[in-house]
Amino acid sequence: KYAVGVDIGGTKAAAAVVAETGEILKKTVIPTDGTVAPEEMIERISRVISKLIKETGLQAGDLSGIGIGAPGPLDTKRGAIHSPPYLPRWIDVPVVQLMAQRFSIPVLLENDANAAALAEKWLGAARGLNDFVYVTVSTGIGAGIVSDGRLVSGRRGNAGEIGHMVVDPSFGRCFCGLYGCLELIASGTSIAKHGSVISGRTLSTKEVFDLYRAGDAAIMEFVDRVFHALGTAAVSLVNTFDPEAIIIGGGVSQVGDPLFKAVQTHISRYALDAVGRQTQVVPAQLNQSEGVIGAAALCFQPGS
Ligand code: ADP
Ligand code: ZN
Repeated sequence: KYAVGVDIGGTKAAAAVVAETGEILKKTVIPTDGTVAPEEMIERISRVISKLIKETGLQAGDLSGIGIGAPGPLDTKRGAIHSPPYLPRWIDVPVVQLMAQRFSIPVLLENDANAAALAEKWLGAARGLNDFVYVTVSTGIGAGIVSDGRLVSGRRGNAGEIGHMVVDPSFGRCFCGLYGCLELIASGTSIAKHGSVISGRTLSTKEVFDLYRAGDAAIMEFVDRVFHALGTAAVSLVNTFDPEAIIIGGGVSQVGDPLFKAVQTHISRYALDAVGRQTQVVPAQLNQSEGVIGAAALCFQPGS
């Protein structure tokens, strides 16, 4: 059996035909244009899917379904994407219904971080784990929680939205109204923004970390604050969910060692008991194809 995995993001949408073994048969990436109506974007994605199916030579009967991973907030029970910050025109878009009209196979929708957690459980760093939290540190910050072997979805599929967990109120006010949200401090967007202000020139997130490695004192102070925020959130996740591991993915996790060591140190100091303090912090393994694999996992490993 095969499934189509679709990953809808703020800058690009990817679709792939994925085998039950996890092998990607074929994948296509197209830009998501914020000025294009969502119905038109869905039409474009549908054309890509039709083409992929055709090129792989599969028949309708070979396909278990189409899985879609999309940024929240959304409503997986109603199959609708609500109002993601990076897709401003996508307000209450019934994406499942619109796709199901075109393809006569089941269509499933899940929050992208939750789908990524399923991907890591299926083929990545969480293989064999029943209790873990996957955290993505990218443009924004999100998480997917697996507890007792099952994805924690919440009422509408938005569980794990940890970007607005308060970790350092002294940092300032978030657009959501709270002070010191994790995402306000430690997202890739924030790191580039604050790093640029501190150094007086426009820096990418990666360039901020280059200066950190080079020993720039002001940047080091800021980046330590970022690591402190991530570490604090990780300790809260350990204390709340009692996981075997915290898995960190997303573009910012490519920084590697310094970030993982800082978060690990935080957990080993501040988690509530000796077992919690030993919770492993490990890199995600599927960074490139996380989205489409996670979306396909919805068809093969529903909720598992
Ligand atoms: P998305 O948010 O669209 O899912 P990514 O997971 O790739 O995309 O995250 C993008 C963020 O990761 C951006 O803020 C980018 O600057 C940052 N990033 C990408 N590569 C690196 C790197 N090597 N080091 C640090 N930050 C990076
Ligand atoms: Zn907030």
